[in-house]
Amino acid sequence: MIPDLPVDLDLIKGFLAADEATALYDCALQACSLGPVLEIGSYCGKSTVCLGLACQRGDSTLFALDHHRGSEEHQKGEMFHDPELYDHGEALFDTFGEFRRTIRAAGLEQVVVPIVAGSALAARHWNTPLGMVFIDGGHSLEAALTDYRCWAPHVVRGGILAIHDLFADAHEGGQAPYAVYRMALASGLFEALGQVNSLGMLRRL
Ligand code: MG
Repeated sequence: MIPDLPVDLDLIKGFLAADEATALYDCALQACSLGPVLEIGSYCGKSTVCLGLACQRGDSTLFALDHHRGSEEHQKGEMFHDPELYDHGEALFDTFGEFRRTIRAAGLEQVVVPIVAGSALAARHWNTPLGMVFIDGGHSLEAALTDYRCWAPHVVRGGILAIHDLFADAHEGGQAPYAVYRMALASGLFEALGQVNSLGMLRRL
């Protein structure tokens, strides 16, 4: 349970189970004393609220990275397309407006720094050590690998790397996040902290 939730998480569009939301909050609350938190893949702000509330409580900052154009599966005609998030004027999928409404409703505008850009571009000049990184961006192998390579090196010792949508069985979901999770473990730089639902957590050694 996340204490004193200012919004109903069930009313925020997104793909995060209740037990995962609590685990994210708990991880961020621990890790944000080591440095700011960064999430990749904010969508409409569901996970952002969980991480942001922990950062607010710990007097830290959350960087919320998303190009806000949706992943492949969100595009028009695809399985997870939401017509309410389609900008007809621009003829583009756009989650940034909804994201801003969520952050404002949750009272987190002084905690969350939105970064509206692709992962590789945002990482190019990044030089700030991070207490926690949460990877929940594109689920193609290329996107997941880019997120891992760009951001995992910034996690400080003792900090947390969390990865969403881990499915050991390919019938349950795409395998890219799981491949990245195994890569992190195999690197010898991280130890497993356990898994809650499809959320895997690792600690930087
Ligand atoms: Mg996800």
